[in-house]
Amino acid sequence: MINIENISFDHCIKCTVCTVYCPVAKVTHLYPGPKQSGPDAERLRIKNPELVDESLKYCNNCKRCEIACPSDVKIADIIQKAKYHYTSKSFSLRNFLLSRTDLMGSFGTFASPALNYFTKLFFTKFLLKTFLNISPRSFPTYENGTFVRWYYEHARNQNRFSEKVTYFHGCYVNYNNHEIGKTLIRILNLMNIGVMITDEKCCGVPLIANSSINKAKKNAHFNVKYLAKSVSHDKTKKIVLTSSSCAYALKYEYKNLLGVNNSKIYDQIEYITQFIYEKLESNNFILSTLNIIAAYHAPCHLERMGGTIYTIGLLKKIPGLQLKILNSECCGIAGTYGFKNECNQISQDIGKELFKKINFIQPDVVVTDCETCKWQIEMNTSYEVVHPLTLLARAIRFD
Ligand code: SF4
Ligand code: SF4
Repeated sequence: MINIENISFDHCIKCTVCTVYCPVAKVTHLYPGPKQSGPDAERLRIKNPELVDESLKYCNNCKRCEIACPSDVKIADIIQKAKYHYTSKSFSLRNFLLSRTDLMGSFGTFASPALNYFTKLFFTKFLLKTFLNISPRSFPTYENGTFVRWYYEHARNQNRFSEKVTYFHGCYVNYNNHEIGKTLIRILNLMNIGVMITDEKCCGVPLIANSSINKAKKNAHFNVKYLAKSVSHDKTKKIVLTSSSCAYALKYEYKNLLGVNNSKIYDQIEYITQFIYEKLESNNFILSTLNIIAAYHAPCHLERMGGTIYTIGLLKKIPGLQLKILNSECCGIAGTYGFKNECNQISQDIGKELFKKINFIQPDVVVTDCETCKWQIEMNTSYEVVHPLTLLARAIRFD
């Protein structure tokens, strides 16, 4: 019997708009594009799995095709599922290491000085490329210790606030960049809101990208269980996130792609700029003038959620800030995609126009909500790239 999990492919009207918007199909002939790899091929795959072709690996799951599709075909979800169900399941050490962010993060924060030093060396990059097929690009650095440890040592007195949120910090804040989590606590405390954390595991984005679907499901069940517990006594309590991809995963990928019931937390999940923007009118923190030019790059997954409007709205509140909104386009890194040697050139080619535009504007700072977009832009331009909260905090008078 044919097992059809997602029949949205049947809504395709063959308009080809999705292919026009696919950043990968635009730069390489190796990938036929979303229409062909998604709805067209799915009809064949469900009849005969042998008709699958290896080009599926070039889809970077940016979801731009889904934004463009007039028939609401879940194109990227169809492709991700096909990658998992039909392509080779042989073990890849490279994909295992790229997708186990909790494992790598625990090790990285334990041995950060040595690891940060060695990953910068040309020789290390050469070895990683030769033996693991990892592209010779710059790697994120690790913090010394985790954000969770810092939180319990310095910020646990959050019960003093009557209003609270649960903060899903994600791997990036926990292992690579504590500053964003600390900034969130400073800003929300100033707004008289306490920040609680709970047990969490990697949201699953890198696991999905590397076809570790069973592990992604386990993490999703774990996260839903603990987040639901943290908001169970107060239905108005929000779950806020500072990573746009984690937010997208918790809200949409869990249900649509992993089949994990997230109804107990769905309504409470909010990306941080939306949460602050909606509270701003009732809070009177004072913003100082920032006479600078900021170029804003909207990450694909935040666009898919319809969340960029809040980040832009928030940044526009900063007096004096000249905000240049960059064209809506993928930066090319797409999480772990740009770290795979076979995707490296595609990843760089996708981002070319974006880097060119940033260099043309010559901003004082680039702003983006996604950590991997930050890595990609920093590697390809000479500009500082910060999270919207970081820029907001620079304008807030905390005294
Ligand atoms: S998810 Fe992105 S890369 Fe994949 S088919 Fe859609 S637009 Fe192309
Ligand atoms: S945009 Fe949607 S309807 Fe048009 S070809 Fe692509 S999947 Fe089909």
